[in-house]
Amino acid sequence: MARSVLVTGGNRGIGLAIARELSANGDAVAVTYRSGEPPEGLFGVRCDVTSTADVEAAFDKVEAQQGPVEVLVSNAGVTKDTLLAMMKEDTFTDVIDTNLTGAYRVAKRAIRPMMRLKRGRIILISSVIGLSGQAGQANYAASKAGLIGFARSLAREYGSRNITVNVVSPGFVATDMTAELDHDTIVSTIPLGRQARPEEVARVVRFLAGDDASYITGAVIPVDGGLGMGH
Ligand code: NDP
Repeated sequence: MARSVLVTGGNRGIGLAIARELSANGDAVAVTYRSGEPPEGLFGVRCDVTSTADVEAAFDKVEAQQGPVEVLVSNAGVTKDTLLAMMKEDTFTDVIDTNLTGAYRVAKRAIRPMMRLKRGRIILISSVIGLSGQAGQANYAASKAGLIGFARSLAREYGSRNITVNVVSPGFVATDMTAELDHDTIVSTIPLGRQARPEEVARVVRFLAGDDASYITGAVIPVDGGLGMGH
């Protein structure tokens, strides 16, 4: 039977690539979207992950459509870059609220049904920046580093329930999020000498969601072309 999958922020970028990859894998895939229209061929639910009520309503709809979520991919994320000296408090807290507390909201909503199912996969999309840090991204780096401690705590709490919790840590991926950046400068720091395609991140998520990753939990998997080198 097709597994019930939910990908947050699955209407574009890396999230959409993950949703398409898992859908091609035979899973029943739902995506959350905030703006625009849901992507063609995927079940879309409107949801802002900063709202607990939105998250609750989205899960209710997904459960009614395709059953309890067995694979949760927490991918929705934002950047609001500025140096600390200029960073207003809400510029810090907004990014934490989406990237880290948003992951808490969806994982919290997913966990009890997964416990009842006696299986589950939670995959959180972090970033190489979470461990390396980046000037102008203290808010973003803090949110992405926070996901790692969050994931590893859940891995310990729910391992005995056959629920794995892992982190994927992309480097520099060609999406709207990186469209404004100075590509040549960044690419020159990447050992593989290029940015990633969203599909290259998606395939690692598919692996972590699948049977071949049955004994992997609490891991942080870099998909960064060597940028983080061991982080
Ligand atoms: P995009 O900017 O292309 O897409 C971001 C996605 O997140 C969109 O689907 C957006 O929805 C959704 N989103 C943002 N805020 C919210 C919110 N409050 N509630 C619900 N959905 C929200 O980014 P990417 O695809 O590049 O990034 C996806 C993830 O990968 C992020 O977590 C990002 O931090 C991470 N990442 C990206 C890297 C890169 O180089 N691109 C590198 C490392 C990590 P909507 O379209 O409706 O606004």
